[in-house]
Amino acid sequence: MSFDSFLGNEKAVRTVRDMLARGRVPGSMLFTGPEGVGKKTLAMMLSKALNCAEPGAEGSDFCGECDRCRRADDFLASGAEDAARRREIKDAHRRVEGLVYFDIQLIEPLTRYILIEQIRQLRATAYNQPFHLPRRVFIIDQAQAIHWQAADLLLKVLEEPPATTTLILICPQAYELRSTIRSRCFTLQFAPVEETVIERILGEERGFTKPQQALAARVVQGSIARAQTFDLNDFLLRRKPWLDFLDLVARPRSRPLAPGEWKTLFDTTKSLVTDSGGAEQTLKVGSGILQDLMQVIEEEKSPRVTHVDLVPRLKAWSQALGMAGIEKLAAGIEDIYRQQIRNANQQLSLDSLASNLLSSATGP
Ligand SMILES: [Zn+2]
Repeated sequence: MSFDSFLGNEKAVRTVRDMLARGRVPGSMLFTGPEGVGKKTLAMMLSKALNCAEPGAEGSDFCGECDRCRRADDFLASGAEDAARRREIKDAHRRVEGLVYFDIQLIEPLTRYILIEQIRQLRATAYNQPFHLPRRVFIIDQAQAIHWQAADLLLKVLEEPPATTTLILICPQAYELRSTIRSRCFTLQFAPVEETVIERILGEERGFTKPQQALAARVVQGSIARAQTFDLNDFLLRRKPWLDFLDLVARPRSRPLAPGEWKTLFDTTKSLVTDSGGAEQTLKVGSGILQDLMQVIEEEKSPRVTHVDLVPRLKAWSQALGMAGIEKLAAGIEDIYRQQIRNANQQLSLDSLASNLLSSATGP
């Protein structure tokens, strides 16, 4: 293992390696940026590099094989196991009973929050010498979930971390943290992973074809984690009724629906609203298509769309609907999915939205 195996965010990796080479890794750091781009992975790699017995010629890497690297892996695995076990405990007090922190420790929310006891334990441990490794590293994942009562306790450690301790906070949006916490940390900003890297993962790890890679890379929006779990078949199944729906409602005035097509339209609206269990995802796919339609109107020459395989159809639909029609559709669909909570007749609403669009069709 080595930093070379880290995918994407080359600038962040370079910064970390530079600091390691100069022997100047800040005691308090904040890794921030979108979900699924490897913030936690890089923090865990850094925790090894800070301890590795074979850190490479420049002292800026880790081997993944020496006793210390292995020990770090064991600590991380044991910490994750312990957290999973604790999350199962119903009684809130017993959940934090007898916390023990290893030299390398991943700290995650045990409830909705990272609790005051967790930060108290961090403090108590941080001021002692590490037991097995030269450096102690605490990685606090989802730092935005630190309970407000615990924030003050943490501040004091962040302000002056003990010489043998490194703290790494992880959080998607830096502004979600108090400015007092932020200002005490060296911030390392992560970016969405480049599409070429995502496409490579989709090809190599998932066996996607080139066209599938192009579509999926847009859908997962630079997240390696999402690329690794993206269910293309499910996505296409959810998308299909939207395409049928648009084929029927987004048409020029000169081509009104034939009587038989109304039946098809009602079948389509039915399949869009009867999807139990995944209504949220179906809606998300639909809104994605609507965004593409707007994009096609706004950026006529080279629209950057998610549904890259549908460009000619997107163009035809957006032309037929016009911006007003697209906006009407977007608002209508939002409403219909909101009605779900009230058990209203969603299909009826979708049907009337469809006929409304058809009667106000623009164009020749
Ligand atoms: Zn090593």
